[in-house]
Amino acid sequence: MNSATETRAFEAEVSQVLHLVTHALYSHKEIFLRELISNASDACDKLRFAALSDAALTADDADLRIEIVADKDARTLTIRDHGIGMTREEVIENIGTIARSGTRKFLESLSGDARRDTQLIGQFGVGFYSAFIVADKVTLTTRKAGAAADEGVRWESGGSGEYTLENVEAPRRGTSVTLHLKEDESEFLDAWKLRELITRYSDHVAFPIRLPKQQDGGVSDSGRTDEFETVNHAAALWTRPKSELTDEDYQSFYKSISHDYGDALAWTHNRVEGSQSYSLLLYVPEKPPFDAVFSGRDERKGLKLYIRRVFIMDASEQLLPAYLRFVRGVVDSDDLPLNVSREILQENRLVAQIRSACVKRTLDLLEKLAKDEPEKFAKFTQSFGNVLKEGIAEDGANRERIAKLLRFASTASEGEAKTVSLDDYVGRMQAGQEAIWYITADSYAAAKGSPQIEGLRAKGVEVLLLSDRIDEWMIGYLSEYAGKKLRHAGKGDLETDVDSAETERRQQAADAAQPVVKKLADLLGPRVGEVRVSHRLTESPSCIVLGEHDMALHMQRLLREAGHDVPGSEQVLEINPQHPLVRALAEEADPARAEDLGLLLLEEAQVAAGDQLADPAGFVARVNRLLHA
Ligand code: ADP
Repeated sequence: MNSATETRAFEAEVSQVLHLVTHALYSHKEIFLRELISNASDACDKLRFAALSDAALTADDADLRIEIVADKDARTLTIRDHGIGMTREEVIENIGTIARSGTRKFLESLSGDARRDTQLIGQFGVGFYSAFIVADKVTLTTRKAGAAADEGVRWESGGSGEYTLENVEAPRRGTSVTLHLKEDESEFLDAWKLRELITRYSDHVAFPIRLPKQQDGGVSDSGRTDEFETVNHAAALWTRPKSELTDEDYQSFYKSISHDYGDALAWTHNRVEGSQSYSLLLYVPEKPPFDAVFSGRDERKGLKLYIRRVFIMDASEQLLPAYLRFVRGVVDSDDLPLNVSREILQENRLVAQIRSACVKRTLDLLEKLAKDEPEKFAKFTQSFGNVLKEGIAEDGANRERIAKLLRFASTASEGEAKTVSLDDYVGRMQAGQEAIWYITADSYAAAKGSPQIEGLRAKGVEVLLLSDRIDEWMIGYLSEYAGKKLRHAGKGDLETDVDSAETERRQQAADAAQPVVKKLADLLGPRVGEVRVSHRLTESPSCIVLGEHDMALHMQRLLREAGHDVPGSEQVLEINPQHPLVRALAEEADPARAEDLGLLLLEEAQVAAGDQLADPAGFVARVNRLLHA
């Protein structure tokens, strides 16, 4: 074994993160204590789990605890745990590198704007490196549980580019992190200050956090437990009665499990007793985490599974459907076997019940938020509304409940904020109106300006304006809500409630426009499936109408751009015979000009629908010819 001191360089990204962390988080410097205590607590959790299959690991000292010792003379603060510890390789792996895949992306996303960056760094979770906010040197000594006393490892760094590693004697298992405090950080040597920080940020930690009884009497390093007193509650937060817990307790616990720097938006805490017993504590964050993982649906985390208070694993994937992947929290089961594996979790009946309870409690929580705290719910919609939409396709059993929680922009609301629920819409439907109308487009402006909705608007019929990419796909799974059909204003026939006088008027209009319809159909030939008189248009000359089940043109274009092979759909061109351009076409005797006008009517409609023009240069030339004529 190599016992000589070895000097190694940090990965380039580590140095960058270290620099950023120490500067950006300076105004919240005390968070380092929370982060290091949280690591110590995780280490105790891991040891307890490992001891399930190897009891010898804790045989000599089963008292899992965290001790915090300040040394005023040496100006050091030590956080030590009796947890799992690390091997030399693990120290290199965990402390010298940033394993998280999102690091590079994270660094790229930093703007240089201190406020925003602080937020981002917080969401990213700084962990161990936060020690360098207050320390100019950090010494970590660790011994893996089960390893011999001479297999200890000491890691030391001044936080600028490199660190040293050496093998040392370590009398006990676990990790001790000693911060050599910077000149003006003496406050963290003060017993009262430490006690205050622990009760504020780490009270919920399930292991005892201990301070020496007589801080000024010098440093106690004998490890004798009677020289220490426990300063936190030291009980798993979710096991405590709700009546005893304050919002601050819940928020600080949220921060420790989520690594989120901001507050949770809402939470639900339940104890279920019955055919099986378990506790749930589920949080909805306010903002999406900065996490590459979050945007992908593959690897999910954030919901911790405990069995009878023992941390087992992150089981977000087993306990939550993908469309609720923003939920963070804890599930603690009384009945699952401690030796449960991921495979067992996949098909366990008890797990399936807990999973549906998680879904139900989360939807209950969101419904309550929507009803009682609309401002918070608006934040939720902004952060996670699009993730929730996946549930419309994914969770048929809860489709109606999820649909109720969605919010949209609409012709009846101001601006592009998503504030209109399907219930709002249904409540405002006109007498005799049968469908819930919507339009999809690739931006709010394009949706709002769609020619296809002109007729509905003119009649005062509300139209939902859908402009998120997921909408077109999601809405395909939502054909009905509250017994009303959902209809795309640019697809299929537009038979709004029409009385017989209206039918007659339409017939007359169609007859009168027959010559121009035929002229246009001849001009366009196979470019369109059909030309017909529109009942949708009031202001624009023309629009494209697709079949009921066709994909919207803007989506077809996006998919093609992404390299997919999307068969084109038959486009119907609807025209407004009252419009001057259509009249001009009807009267135009010059065949070349008539062709320009005809193609223009088609191309304008395609552009408005987000389609790509077959011949953009030809389009520009036509517009120019017509403008200069
Ligand atoms: P995170 O805790 O988010 O993973 P950190 O930077 O805080 O990130 O820690 C990196 C890793 O170092 C941890 O995941 C853990 O494996 C290891 N580690 C940190 N502190 C301890 C400790 N006190 N005991 C054992 N392992 C630790």
